[in-house]
Amino acid sequence: MLKSEINTPEMEREILNTISIDGHFLTAVFEHGHWWVQCACGAQWSVVDTSEGFDTEQVSQGDEDFHVLDDYANPREGDYLDGDDDVH
Ligand SMILES: [Zn+2]
Repeated sequence: MLKSEINTPEMEREILNTISIDGHFLTAVFEHGHWWVQCACGAQWSVVDTSEGFDTEQVSQGDEDFHVLDDYANPREGDYLDGDDDVH
């Protein structure tokens, strides 16, 4: 049986430990008999077995603006420097 078709918490952990995709925060879901990884931006990948472990095939594109907008939600360093008047 292929590892990508084994639905156990251990396999979910192994998938999340092994697979990383730049710029995305992955969660693993078991559906239709095998594992998928997806990101809150909407992007989704099918998990496939290789002789070296796991590989991924993208099946859905995410919202391109999702992670960009995410950055704007974080305060920038400069915002703190502007408040110097209150520091003694
Ligand atoms: Zn993403």
